[in-house]
Amino acid sequence: MYSTPPRPDLDELLASMGAAGARICEIDASEAGAGNLSIYVGWDIEVRRRFPIAEGIVLPVPAPALAGRTILVTGSGRRLRQIHQDPEANIGALVVHDDGSTATLHTSPRRLFDRLTSEFNSHLAVHQDQVARRGVDFQAVVHAQPMNLTYLSHIPAYRDTAAINARILRWEPESIVSLSAGIGVLEFMIPGSAELMAANIEGLREFEIVLWSKHGVMARSDLSITRAVDRVEYAETGARYEYMDLVAGGRAQGLTPEEIGAVAREFDIDSRWVH
Ligand SMILES: [Zn+2]
Repeated sequence: MYSTPPRPDLDELLASMGAAGARICEIDASEAGAGNLSIYVGWDIEVRRRFPIAEGIVLPVPAPALAGRTILVTGSGRRLRQIHQDPEANIGALVVHDDGSTATLHTSPRRLFDRLTSEFNSHLAVHQDQVARRGVDFQAVVHAQPMNLTYLSHIPAYRDTAAINARILRWEPESIVSLSAGIGVLEFMIPGSAELMAANIEGLREFEIVLWSKHGVMARSDLSITRAVDRVEYAETGARYEYMDLVAGGRAQGLTPEEIGAVAREFDIDSRWVH
């Protein structure tokens, strides 16, 4: 996407993380310190002026495809809603060493966290996987905890990829356009575990957003972090309608498969959720 200039600069990337964090909070998808953000930058970018403190760290998983590149990532326990007020206080800039297993973490004197987010292993593994397999030069990853999607994942009948897409893509005509690949459902797994990390990599190869059952979502974008947040918002809006309909006794019709199919044809959308 950004193989040739103009590319976003560090100030723009930090501002976009602030905007993304604020939006995630506006849609109630991140209470207190929940949720986390990261951006992989596949070109040279100078971080030391805004993040002058350097320390060596061992990466939670090997990331050889990211050697020499930079990842901007939120600190553990930081509130997404406050990033925009002071990005350097809430974000670290990680430059991966040539060995692919260690890195230099650059931070600000105003840093308000001890460690990077506890979900960093999942973020890093997705960056490694997508860069190694697809050669992307930019990727944004968002983890959030949108309430309606997460609630639906507590209902066994919804904890299934085909079932949840049939239910949440039927409330707005643009759903099949904006979320044409749909959402992938993962079973409940311990937060931060190697098991979740592996299932998440696999899920994000097929879908641009996956639902971590009884926990939240992870979304990715090759374009921008706000696009990844849009994905969360589209899916969460469908889930909000679905929840509303459950509470109202299931009285609504929703768009029929024929109506969704007609929209998809009109907009030239190829989706496995169109029949
Ligand atoms: Zn979480």
